[in-house]
Amino acid sequence: MCHVAGTADRLCDLWTLVVQCDVTSPPTLESLLRARILVLDGAMGTQLQRLCLAEADFRGERFRRHSRDLYGDYDVLTLTRPDLVSRVHHEYLASGSDIIRTNTFSSTAVAQADFGLSPNAYELNLAGARLARAARDVWRARTPHQPRFVAGTMGPTNRSVSLPPGRDAIGIRGIPFGQLRDAYEEQVRGLVDGGCDLLLVETVFDLANAQAALAAMIEVCIAPPSRLPVLLSATVSDSSGRMLTGQTIEAFRTAVAQAQPLCVGLNCSPAVHTVRPHLEELARHADCFVSCHPSAGLPDVRGQYASQPVDFADALRDLASKGLVNIVGGCCGTTPAHITEVVEAVRDMPPRRLRTFDDQDGTADPTEQSG
Ligand SMILES: [Zn+2]
Repeated sequence: MCHVAGTADRLCDLWTLVVQCDVTSPPTLESLLRARILVLDGAMGTQLQRLCLAEADFRGERFRRHSRDLYGDYDVLTLTRPDLVSRVHHEYLASGSDIIRTNTFSSTAVAQADFGLSPNAYELNLAGARLARAARDVWRARTPHQPRFVAGTMGPTNRSVSLPPGRDAIGIRGIPFGQLRDAYEEQVRGLVDGGCDLLLVETVFDLANAQAALAAMIEVCIAPPSRLPVLLSATVSDSSGRMLTGQTIEAFRTAVAQAQPLCVGLNCSPAVHTVRPHLEELARHADCFVSCHPSAGLPDVRGQYASQPVDFADALRDLASKGLVNIVGGCCGTTPAHITEVVEAVRDMPPRRLRTFDDQDGTADPTEQSG
């Protein structure tokens, strides 16, 4: 927070302007969220890792002579193996996902620097959005009763605004706010130009990074008709409910509320039960929709995740039964099989009731259902 002091008021002012000139897509997504729980997709990386790809797959013809190894850069597959990325999108849509995420979690110039692909950041996001959008269009036509949406995914990068430049903490280095904001701005331009329906800032471990992403959205989306709904999802790193850089989920909720997101949530924690108390806190106070897409447990030495599809879905159904969620889905280790079970598990569950002005005194009961 200390590195972005002074930006909060400006964020608030600018978002007010953005909201005033809103002209496009939110009503459909928002009206659906009021009616039922929507289901996000599962992990893209898990599906791609199962294919045991080689360096040549990552490089493709396009980057055959690239100066650095690209093995492990799953985002570059959007350009070099779009068939594989598209197949995963279709698998999740066939599983019943309402919202699929672009393969752009690490497609900022900052995150791509380790692979020497920073100059390709805009293209990665543009292509990632178009690929997901093409799959979404096929399924919108196939299941007109179930509209599908594309969320342009923005990961936290491997840098932290809250760490001083040059400081290194468990592999994460510091980065100036402006540099990260500029990288996010390029990412948002690609995602918006590629036709995303909404933007999802996920796995937030540093509130200041999320604020850099929000600042970037303001720059790109200030002119209609580009305004898109925004979802923000944090990840807690310990049982105390703090993010990696020490901020609480309450601080996260309060700070991002100024941006008037459509939804806030939690993702990527080791297990649903570790998320639950913090999700309850979020659901009790959030003035917007609430999401949860945890990981399928922790991976073992072979990279296998512990939580099986039925168990995973049961845990999310339990959250839904308490009226805590509007969007559910999966993070690391989840597969189309997990999403198939989740769709069934929450099909008849009412969504979390959105707080109203009458609830503003904080007495609203998050378990109360609108039916
Ligand atoms: Zn994850």
